[in-house]
Amino acid sequence: MIDSYKHKGMRRQLIQTLQAKGITDERVLRVMNRLPRHLFLDNAFQEWAYQDKAFPIGNEQTISQPYTVAYQTALLDIQKRQSVMEIGTGSGYQAAILAMLGGRVYTLERQEVLHKEATKRLERLGLGQIRTYLRDGYKGLPEFAPFDRILVTAGAPTIPQQLCNQLKIGGILVVPVGHTTQTMYKITRVGKTNFLEEALDSFQFVPFLKGLNRK
Ligand code: SAH
Repeated sequence: MIDSYKHKGMRRQLIQTLQAKGITDERVLRVMNRLPRHLFLDNAFQEWAYQDKAFPIGNEQTISQPYTVAYQTALLDIQKRQSVMEIGTGSGYQAAILAMLGGRVYTLERQEVLHKEATKRLERLGLGQIRTYLRDGYKGLPEFAPFDRILVTAGAPTIPQQLCNQLKIGGILVVPVGHTTQTMYKITRVGKTNFLEEALDSFQFVPFLKGLNRK
């Protein structure tokens, strides 16, 4: 599978769509214009890769809608060499975007099949520093905490406290919270026990589930 002029053209159009929907962060738009999203979907679905839509990746999971990826990534405001933990590797697309912005990425997935596929795909693409883990995201990665940034890409029923506790002081957690639809939260750790919570727009995510799935 390769990148082509046709794919590049479709990608430029997708970027224009994102701008029209209100995404203004130039760094985010630039990396999304560079990263071939079609490499994160099965061959059969290449034509779908540059629509601004979520898409099934197997095991009842989806690669997030590009608008959602852009929105969450812009909120994170990643600086070079920051440590970034992502919950919900899925296809690996979002992890690749975080790495291209200079993050040192730790990404966790609870489904073994998706974890294995994304690990292989990210190794093949070689896009920077990304470590993948088959782990329950509710627990985070205490052995590598605290993190500068934490991103949850599944809908959490409540703000995940264990993840808040794995943030550095000054660090940012972006997490969608809610049952059928979710409100995007940006949470900034302003002190050891002080967190600033900002409730933003509504989205729809697959659920943040407990435990591993090794099927
Ligand atoms: N970021 C992904 C989109 C992921 S969809 C991408 O760019 O493609 C959400 C993912 O979160 C799914 O793959 C789902 O299996 C995973 N997930 C749900 N609950 C989880 C948990 N407790 N720990 C780790 N991953 C989880």
